Amino acid sequence: MTMTITMDGDEGTATGGRINRRSLMRFGAAAAGAIALASCAKENPNREARDGKDKGPYDVAVVGAGYAGITAARELAAKGWRVVVLEARPRIGGRTFTSTFLGRQIELGGSSVHWVQPHVFAEMQRYGFGFEEVPLRDLDKAYVMTADGKVHDVAPERFDIGYNDAFDKFCADAKTLFPQPFAPFSNAEVAKLDIISAAERMAKLDLDPIQRASLNAELVLYAGSSTNTFSYMSYVKMFAAAAWDPYTFTDSEKHWHIARGGTAALAKAILDDSKADVRLGTVVKQVETTAGGVTLRTADGQSIEAKAAIFTLPTQVYPDIEFKPGLSAEKQAFIKNGDLCDGATMYMRIKQNLGNTFTFCDDPNPLSAIQTEESDPEIGTILKATLGRQSLIDINDQDAVNAELRKIHPGVEITDIAPYNWVKDPFSKQAWPAYRAGWFRKYKDMAKPEGRLFFAGSGTADGWHAYIDGAVESGIRACRELTAMLEKETNKNG
Ligand SMILES: Cc1cc2nc3c(=O)[nH]c(=O)nc-3n(C[C@H](O)[C@H](O)[C@H](O)COP(=O)(O)OP(=O)(O)OC[C@H]3O[C@@H](n4cnc5c(N)ncnc54)[C@H](O)[C@@H]3O)c2cc1C
Repeated sequence: MTMTITMDGDEGTATGGRINRRSLMRFGAAAAGAIALASCAKENPNREARDGKDKGPYDVAVVGAGYAGITAARELAAKGWRVVVLEARPRIGGRTFTSTFLGRQIELGGSSVHWVQPHVFAEMQRYGFGFEEVPLRDLDKAYVMTADGKVHDVAPERFDIGYNDAFDKFCADAKTLFPQPFAPFSNAEVAKLDIISAAERMAKLDLDPIQRASLNAELVLYAGSSTNTFSYMSYVKMFAAAAWDPYTFTDSEKHWHIARGGTAALAKAILDDSKADVRLGTVVKQVETTAGGVTLRTADGQSIEAKAAIFTLPTQVYPDIEFKPGLSAEKQAFIKNGDLCDGATMYMRIKQNLGNTFTFCDDPNPLSAIQTEESDPEIGTILKATLGRQSLIDINDQDAVNAELRKIHPGVEITDIAPYNWVKDPFSKQAWPAYRAGWFRKYKDMAKPEGRLFFAGSGTADGWHAYIDGAVESGIRACRELTAMLEKETNKNG
């Protein structure tokens, strides 16, 4: 059965995920939609208390209640500014999305966090969230599907050693290039080398076919495209942020989730801590900057005034908002060219118990990485697949996904799937940020303030830009910039 993932928890109105007609006929409409949105309530719990009290005028309007937006709102409110958060979806969290699948908590967007990610770890510490382990180490089986579709059953120890070796080779110069990963251009060579794609770098390495396929699958996953367009430097920077170490990097990306309610619960804790007025289901359509402030107009006819605004949108969504005056030429160029990501994710339940498995499928095989989340004789196996290029397969088509999986595990039967296609969601239109070769060096163009408008979002972060950590980092930075502007203005006006 294909589970419906909706934006608001209702059945059958999904944007990112969708009911497959055949599975509806087979299992009946009532059976679909079993996913409940664990903690992504339709109403922010604070909204009622805040609405009516705080009708503005506001000091700051924050557009977007993903991790960048909620962090910015919390920080701004802590400084005493009057803040309104305008969020298009009926839930907070943005590209993080805690849900349930067959009664289990799942993360359909950003999921893995780690103590080497300083900003998100600090938030977990602040609100008392620990880590929940996901199976990754002590594999029973490891598989690598090469580009030609051939599947190799690789002994787990050999898989680990080979993969880490490939990784080390790919990122060999990381310490020299990124002595300070959060100041990525402290070595001037980085900007010069940014024209090199991940594929060009790989072509220079001495790797065996399994190593090459594993590394390429990993890179396609990050790129959200084929590796010949993906910025090699941008990937090495994140590796450097994980203490220049392949074990730590893998641990940071695939091994630990947020315990006790997941990303949704942490997001709620951050937003609850703000004094912001939160308006969910509010799609900003137009922004007009005047000498004294900003007017934001929404799809449902609201007009919100503030002294300044922070935008935290995924790059691909900016063209859906009319900016008056328009955004800078640099931003427009980045929006058109800079970000790649065609990614998606899905959970599946397999009847058979496959044990603790990990599989890399090299491009153009669509299921880039497949990881066991749970397995036992009763449940069978719950797998999570992350796709770098969702356009290679219809993730709502259970039969098509099953056919891909049978190439690795002959005869397996998928009984349920829960796909979420971030590219088809109108409020993300992409998955995680991923820079095109030659455009990593320009990511700061997306962060530059323009008059009364300020910009955050994980793609504008210096450190873990493809991560929740980057979103939090960017929210803190944008708050600092905006506060400096407002304080200057307040002092000037007495
Ligand atoms: C499938 C997937 C897997 C990932 N895996 C990981 C992982 O394991 N670990 C990790 O750390 N990160 C991961 N990431 C990345 C991470 O989730 C993101 O980088 C981060 O959540 C982005 O946060 P943000 O606040 O910058 O943007 P978003 O979360 O996208 O927030 C932007 C907000 O703006 C809203 N919005 C859009 N348009 C409008 C409008 N017109 N008006 C008002 N609001 C609007 C959106 O609804 C959204 O809530 C993953 C992402 C995806 C999609």
